[in-house]
Amino acid sequence: MIPFLDLKTINAQYRDELVAAATRVIDSGWYIHGNEVKAFEEEFAEYCGSKHCIGVANGLEALILTLRAWKEMGKLKENDEVIVPANTYIASILAITENRLKPVLVEPDESTFNLCPEKTAAAITPNTKAIVAVHLYGQISPMSELMRLADKNGLLVMEDAAQAHGASIDGRKAGSWGHAAGFSFYPGKNLGALGDAGAVTTDDEELAKTIRALGNYGSQKKYENLYQGVNSRLDEMQAALLRVKLGYLDAETRRRQEIASAYVVGIQNDLIIQPTGRNETRDRLQSHAFHLYVVRSTRRDALYDHLQKAQVHTMIHYPIPPHQQQAYREWNTQAYPITEAIHHQVLSLPISPVMSDQQVQKVIEACNDFANSN
Ligand SMILES: *Cc1c(COP(=O)(O)O)cnc(C)c1O
Repeated sequence: MIPFLDLKTINAQYRDELVAAATRVIDSGWYIHGNEVKAFEEEFAEYCGSKHCIGVANGLEALILTLRAWKEMGKLKENDEVIVPANTYIASILAITENRLKPVLVEPDESTFNLCPEKTAAAITPNTKAIVAVHLYGQISPMSELMRLADKNGLLVMEDAAQAHGASIDGRKAGSWGHAAGFSFYPGKNLGALGDAGAVTTDDEELAKTIRALGNYGSQKKYENLYQGVNSRLDEMQAALLRVKLGYLDAETRRRQEIASAYVVGIQNDLIIQPTGRNETRDRLQSHAFHLYVVRSTRRDALYDHLQKAQVHTMIHYPIPPHQQQAYREWNTQAYPITEAIHHQVLSLPISPVMSDQQVQKVIEACNDFANSN
């Protein structure tokens, strides 16, 4: 079986360095808020091209604490409307509702799975105060257009960059476009820890300070509490392991892009729509971090079964859209046709950086063997 994502093999490549990093933390006697976190925050901010990075416990809390900090700073208040793509992973929306803000679900651009400037503009009302731009599957949203729209309308922009470490437009990376960005280092993400971890990047010093305090009991100075905060910290162990893996992120992304190029050229089947057309420029391929390689098919379930039989493990991201979830039952009667079609048609092919060329070829052949009779 070609596995979907073989984390064991991915991390085994760096085993010696990971063990050395873990040993350094164990032997230091210092496990929370120390030099490893500080160093990782500096290194990741520099990697993204942003001024500040604040390590937090996970990606969801990176998003929650950013919106919460804007509330504490008086930039957002309860019931303000926040635009978010209707087809996103549920975490983007949980961050909004957790803060008692009002998500306004907007249909994505069908070809990129991301927000498009036109539909976003059409969703703006006098109550709109922010946009959550999700870089879904590793492809960065049209950030220059969205930022222009936000500037014109006085809106805050938070990137949900949980799937887009290293994705870029014109060389400018995810995490450096919005007023803030939330990252996840969940083990399966492109930059994955060996446990839970997350971070916020921003150029705004006051925002950085507020998030830092909120994630540390609302405290900037020990035993003095400015806010009713939470405990959401990146720990020294995960930071040390992430520093090792950050050094290999670009090489892994290049391998993902290589596999994507092979799929773009090799998969020739009218029943399978690829995420980037055959005539896409090299630039677009190189700007996409390919966290997932998501194809579409009107015969998705049959394609899944066919590939399973051919020993190719695929997954569906995501089977149920947020507005059809029990958790948001008040939206269950609303219709988002593009989002619903996407959820019925998407299938993620394996795109692990440790796949061999032979395995890539096997996936291509299995896709090309899929026929109407399957
Ligand atoms: C993974 C993910 C998150 C949440 O990250 P966690 O670290 O799992 O909390 C948020 N948004 C998107 C788009 C994600 O893919």
